[in-house]
Amino acid sequence: MRTPLVMGNWKLNGTKDSVTALVNGLIEPAKAATGVQTAICPPVVFLGQVEALVGDAPIAYGAQDASINTSGAFTGENSPVMLKEFGCTYSLVGHSERRQYHNETDEVVAAKFKAIQENGLVPVLCIGETLEENEAGKTAAVVETQLKAVIDLCGVEALENAVIAYEPVWAIGTGKSATSEQAQAVHAHIRGWLAAQNASVAEKVQILYGGSVKAATAKELFSQADIDGALVGGASLLADEFGAIIAAAN
Ligand code: PEP
Repeated sequence: MRTPLVMGNWKLNGTKDSVTALVNGLIEPAKAATGVQTAICPPVVFLGQVEALVGDAPIAYGAQDASINTSGAFTGENSPVMLKEFGCTYSLVGHSERRQYHNETDEVVAAKFKAIQENGLVPVLCIGETLEENEAGKTAAVVETQLKAVIDLCGVEALENAVIAYEPVWAIGTGKSATSEQAQAVHAHIRGWLAAQNASVAEKVQILYGGSVKAATAKELFSQADIDGALVGGASLLADEFGAIIAAAN
């Protein structure tokens, strides 16, 4: 049995006041959902504040991206070592917004995955196809290529201590979620493809769905056999809505 994981990606949002209100508003829902792992990914500038607010509440947190390098002359970067020092458990890697706006290739994503894992964090590897690729019937090929880049560099066993987030690009921030059947079909394909390489890894790895997840659609998504939780953007900025998604996974 895989424990469900519900993770919020706050993207480039927040103020000191809103961060305090949001984290405080999530503590009770996270405590109540004893069968769920709850996590948030704030902008790194708020990590120290989040660390203090979370205290011993069952809310893990992570970064939205991490540098390939651990230190040195790399202006603007945040290293996995620094993230670890601030109590991060996770770092997202390869989010479609990083791939799209920062030209992160599969090779860069794989190198970041390696650096994140080698420095003691759990990489949350984001994969997914664009609308054009979806309509051309290329979904399976795209996610396989994205996964293969990481497997080629790190080995399939590396996915045992990682999380996969399947996020169809056409569903991110659009309000247009994949149906639970569409998402389940891709998740089952991913797990089957991994199982052909290592059955134990495929059985253990959490595969989250991401793309316009809301409280109203969460339960149906989480009822699918291969959907082990969600990576949530917009709805994770609202404590009640995100709390209801956490409850739906419980
Ligand atoms: C995301 O940013 O990973 C995401 C899934 O966003 P949203 O829930 O807003 O579509």
